[in-house]
Amino acid sequence: MLMKHFTNEPRTCGECTACCWTHNVKEIRKPMRRWCPDCTQGVGCKRYETRPGACKEFSCAWLWGYGPDSDRPDKLGVVQSADLENWSGVVIAEFTPGAMDSPRVTEIIREYIAHGSRVNCVSVKGQWAPLEPKPASSTA
Ligand code: SF4
Ligand code: SF4
Repeated sequence: MLMKHFTNEPRTCGECTACCWTHNVKEIRKPMRRWCPDCTQGVGCKRYETRPGACKEFSCAWLWGYGPDSDRPDKLGVVQSADLENWSGVVIAEFTPGAMDSPRVTEIIREYIAHGSRVNCVSVKGQWAPLEPKPASSTA
């Protein structure tokens, strides 16, 4: 994970509802890249107190404290989260079309790779692009 721009200050989602579009929620059969019917976009969850366990447990990297305030996913256009299946990388899910190619997101991806993380980028169209760190011998 990126240690640059890390804050211990508690964060809340605020008006961000990006992961309610980007991520799947098996418990309610919500697929990736579709708005959850319980989401009021830009406001929050209509059933916050009774939301599924997966929603309660989920925290994107920004909410954990990674990145400056301006990296909040609805502003940055991507949601960064741990690859929970493999515990070995990061998933960057595009929320705003074209955001994956922005200078800031490109910088973030480079930082992850430089720290040895595998990065899986998924675009708004669902195209996956796994990016591997370069072997040490080829980065010299
Ligand atoms: S993407 Fe992060 S900040 Fe935005 S709603 Fe989800 S957990 Fe909160
Ligand atoms: S149940 Fe609530 S928190 Fe979970 S995806 Fe839907 S709107 Fe978001």
